Amino acid sequence: ISYDADVVVIGGGGAGLAAAVTAHQNGASVIIIEKMPRLGGNTILSGGAFNAVDPGRQVPQGIEDSIDKHFQQTFDGGDQVGNPELVRVLVENAYPAIEWLESLGMKFNDEVFTVLGGLWPRAHKPSTPLGTGFIDTYSNYINANDGIEVLLDTEATELIVENGRVTGVIAKHFNDDVTLNASKGVVMASGGFGVNSEMRDRFNEDWPALTNLKSTNHPGATGDGLVMAEAIGASLIGMHNIQLLPLGDPNSGSLSGNIEHGVENRIFVNKEGNRFVDEGARRDVMTLALMEQTDAYLYIVLDSSDYPDPDTTTNNFNETINELIDQGRAFKGDTLEELAAAINVDPANLVQAVESFNEAVENGGPDEFGRTLFARKIEQAPFYAGPRVPTVHHTMGGIEINTLAQVLDTDGNVIPGFYAAGEVTGGIHGANRLGGNALADIAVFGRIAGENIANEQ
Ligand code: ADP
Repeated sequence: ISYDADVVVIGGGGAGLAAAVTAHQNGASVIIIEKMPRLGGNTILSGGAFNAVDPGRQVPQGIEDSIDKHFQQTFDGGDQVGNPELVRVLVENAYPAIEWLESLGMKFNDEVFTVLGGLWPRAHKPSTPLGTGFIDTYSNYINANDGIEVLLDTEATELIVENGRVTGVIAKHFNDDVTLNASKGVVMASGGFGVNSEMRDRFNEDWPALTNLKSTNHPGATGDGLVMAEAIGASLIGMHNIQLLPLGDPNSGSLSGNIEHGVENRIFVNKEGNRFVDEGARRDVMTLALMEQTDAYLYIVLDSSDYPDPDTTTNNFNETINELIDQGRAFKGDTLEELAAAINVDPANLVQAVESFNEAVENGGPDEFGRTLFARKIEQAPFYAGPRVPTVHHTMGGIEINTLAQVLDTDGNVIPGFYAAGEVTGGIHGANRLGGNALADIAVFGRIAGENIANEQ
């Protein structure tokens, strides 16, 4: 089977869909190929947090922020190994991307918050659960318009190059060979390699063995696009920069069951019932600290002000605390001592951990771990705890691009007709990605790729 379009997009996650919709808005005919039976990628599984400096929402909450602050936190938070030009593009275009999503019908809450490892309250939360709002918004656009088509269960295996220009894709749809000809070019948006254990081990330099760790990612995050791009001479950078989170579900590695609502109101304790890290720190800092604790196991501890109604208040994953307790995935105590008994930690230690946290809230910190992000004390019974372990979350390295989302070869030259966006790219987040910056990244660079490829001659 063979198809023709102006633009072919590989991958139907947030980056690919943003690129496809934007290319179509700029007059191109578009085909999206997705190897899984549905659209969504990691976006649909994510908590939905989208960082953007947004005075319209932040000022009424008394939050001071600026594009420069977002830039500096992103660049420094990645150990200054990201490409500052790409970081600048990210932070300047994050809010315009929110406005664009809203123009397509997406809704975000008015309140912004600090997401895990986000370092600052600038995360926007969609009004619908998880990342479904993004994917529904893009799907609605695709369904409402001619000239933008999705091929599911269609796995790209190879890029077609003619006279140095990328002109199409070879793919498999079950047993059928599919050829896709792209007159303007191809956008690679196939995501990272978070579930590809062999690749993780091959590139990992920074962590103890990752072999037995689970991942928050969807099963399609196998790094195919990196292999296809490298095969035609694309430059791959920062491949050893693999992000772990300290908040994986002990059974699945996923983020579901995470009871926290924001960074400010909860602490982490180890199996002894002691705090061990600044819970508002970078993701790598928190995960490395967790790996030093008994069984690399923590409990999030918070109080009922986060769950005013245990039967209706939900976490980011649309789960109520009582559902999680019934499933044995969260624990409750009417006192801290009862909670300690429920999770089998030393009650005196847990009480002390909460008391010292509450003192820091009163003093405004920084506390003994250097924590500075606080909102309110943990004091309103009942108290809740949820277990969490390290999990592989994001691969910061990938295909090298310029600020137009054009792919560069190993000599630094643009590969004509070839664009990339999203987690498959490298060079933006450096050694550590801030929480809430991925959804911003994929929308911003997806749009840039889509606009520029549509304007190819
Ligand atoms: P991003 O956040 O950058 O959009 P995701 O991982 O969320 O990345 O989405 C990437 C999408 O690309 C996933 O839906 C994944 O199944 C899809 N994908 C990965 N490899 C291929 C491939 N070889 N062919 C087609 N689709 C692919």
